[in-house]
Amino acid sequence: MAEGGRTYAVVGGGVAGLAAARLLAGLQPVSEASRAAGGARVVLIEQSRRLGGKVASGELAGSPVELGPDQFLRRDPSAERLCRQLGLGDRLVAPAGGTAGLLAKGELRPLPTGLVLGVPTDLAALAKSGIVSQEALAAARSAATRRRPFSPGELGLEGDPETKELSAGEILRPELGDEVVDYLVDPLLGGINAGRVDSLSLSVTAPGIAKALLGRKDVIPALRSIPSAPRPEGPSFLGLEGGLGALPAAVARELGAAAVELWLETRACGLSKSPGGYELETEGRSLHCDGVVLATPGGATGSLLSGLAPRAAELCSSIAYGGVSLVTFAFEAGSIALPAGWTGFLVPARERKLMTAATFSSRKWPWMSRAGLELVRVSSGRFGDTRAGDLDDDELAARLLAELSELVGTTAPAVDRLVKRWPASFPQYRPGHRALIGEIRSLLPAGLALAGAALGGIGVPACISSGEAAAEQVLAPPRAA
Ligand SMILES: Cc1cc2nc3c(=O)[nH]c(=O)nc-3n(C[C@H](O)[C@H](O)[C@H](O)COP(=O)(O)OP(=O)(O)OC[C@H]3O[C@@H](n4cnc5c(N)ncnc54)[C@H](O)[C@@H]3O)c2cc1C
Repeated sequence: MAEGGRTYAVVGGGVAGLAAARLLAGLQPVSEASRAAGGARVVLIEQSRRLGGKVASGELAGSPVELGPDQFLRRDPSAERLCRQLGLGDRLVAPAGGTAGLLAKGELRPLPTGLVLGVPTDLAALAKSGIVSQEALAAARSAATRRRPFSPGELGLEGDPETKELSAGEILRPELGDEVVDYLVDPLLGGINAGRVDSLSLSVTAPGIAKALLGRKDVIPALRSIPSAPRPEGPSFLGLEGGLGALPAAVARELGAAAVELWLETRACGLSKSPGGYELETEGRSLHCDGVVLATPGGATGSLLSGLAPRAAELCSSIAYGGVSLVTFAFEAGSIALPAGWTGFLVPARERKLMTAATFSSRKWPWMSRAGLELVRVSSGRFGDTRAGDLDDDELAARLLAELSELVGTTAPAVDRLVKRWPASFPQYRPGHRALIGEIRSLLPAGLALAGAALGGIGVPACISSGEAAAEQVLAPPRAA
């Protein structure tokens, strides 16, 4: 075996762990600072029987459907690059264009133009949308209320660790007013994270907004002045025809061909230091390894670190998670009157519904409408709202179908439905999250690195990048003392 017979373990077979395993196996180029990868024994340990974690596709009434994410951003190129490297380039497809809507004051309305993660920058468009009241518009239009500019500490940006970071809600509510925040920012910025703006860090969930506010006393003019970032040509988002589940399946084939050992249905349950490396315990066998990447959610990472780095373990376990429950309904094409030209709508918490969003899946992704059906995915659950988790599948589906039917004004029965639950699946990036991750990292011994959504990027590309970065860190030669 080349590379001095080294062994590397990756725990967690979501996209972060898969990306880490590829790099450790020499399937992804490494930076010059790292030891050359390849030739080592690489073991990927996953507790479930399939790889991909939250990236999963399924089938409903003969149509392929997404069970988790259905698209990824192209601005961080890692997901698109990975798909192309795996030969999936010809399946990359942009979502069909269309309007996104929002439920406000009991009525579905199109989202106004000019939103930056829900923060309005075009008040005329906001006024026209009818989403907020005249009073709310007047409040958003009025001059900035702040006496001093936003500081790096308040915004959670580097350079001022002594000041307490404010939540996105604490930053935006005084400037935009509660109505604008509740109807627009909370469903968009909060919704992406299955959380609420009042307990999320702006610098982690919307770093571009946080940076734009630094040194400013206002919000809307500050966001209007953000120079548009260079964007890749073409669509902002991509999905995969047939489902994103093809991505982990292709990585699994590639890893198998590169002799990476895939230990499926194997839960890692302990990690300790041993001479020259680590001893990783699973239920059944143990593995001596030179380096380890933990690409697991916060709680699992915390319990694996408990013997080795107790304070880091405690901090990992303190990361709270929100859960979601999704029901995809299949309707006979033409039997349900969805708003024309729309791809879905959001439901703010202020509307007090069980549902949080509806995606008109087969309109957004024409490859899903193979069986002549109209597919609609209805989401429920956000951090602090556990009502969906308390209902059984039949009750959940009945409640969500009733809400959808009332909103789109139809009584069409669903011909089939698929319930998918993702309990504790969205890490909540609370104020101070960036500092928390920094502290966790500083407490880890050499040869051990963390990856995955818990670190601070919920999207698939961010998770892939974090897996690759963690693998690089494990390969990097130890720094001289
Ligand atoms: C419903 C939904 C919709 C989403 N929509 C989008 C979207 O449209 N676009 C987007 O970019 N992102 C989206 N996301 C977010 C994105 O899918 C996730 O953040 C990302 O896939 C997480 O990847 P990960 O590798 O960090 O973790 P995971 O996918 O959670 O993988 C972690 C893996 O670790 C395994 N594991 C845990 N403990 C152990 C243990 N002790 N031993 C062995 N294995 C263990 C788990 O079984 C799991 O397979 C969505 C997520 C959900 C749930």
